[in-house]
Order: sequence, then structure tokens, then C-alpha cells
Amino acid sequence: MITCREFVDFMMQYLDAELPADERAEFERHVSDCPPCGIYLEQYRDTVTLGKAVCRDPEGPVPEEVPEDLVSAILAARGGSD
Ligand SMILES: [Zn+2]
Repeated sequence: MITCREFVDFMMQYLDAELPADERAEFERHVSDCPPCGIYLEQYRDTVTLGKAVCRDPEGPVPEEVPEDLVSAILAARGGSD
């Protein structure tokens, strides 16, 4: 059984599908046993998905529900190419 700390460390790799099958299984078991981590994962995944959507279409409109500071972080990560 992994700890909540390990769960957070694994989360990015999990969402990028970089975890080996046995570690994925441990991760998923933790989610089902630990509701707070499940909620955290959902929120994290939503943030990552929004970030990717914005980056995939740089000229497209930014969804209204994206927080201002997240937009700023995405623009900064893009490297100010304009
Ligand atoms: Zn946990």
C-alpha cells in the first residue's frame, strides 16, 4: 500500500501513463481506499486537461472557467514566443 505522499509523487506519471502496471495497480488501489486522494486526482486531472487544451490550440479562446493565474502560468511556460 502506497502512502498519500507517494500517491502525489506518482500522480503526474500516472496521468502521463508512465507507470509500470504493478505501480498503476497500487496507485488505483490507493484511490479507491482514500477518497481525499481521489478528489485531489480529479482536480489535478481537470487542471492538466485544461492546460493541454489551451496549449494544443494557442489561438483558440480560453475557457472562462480557467483561473487567471493558471492562464498566466501556461503563457509563461509557453516561453513568450510572441
Ligand atoms: Zn491518500
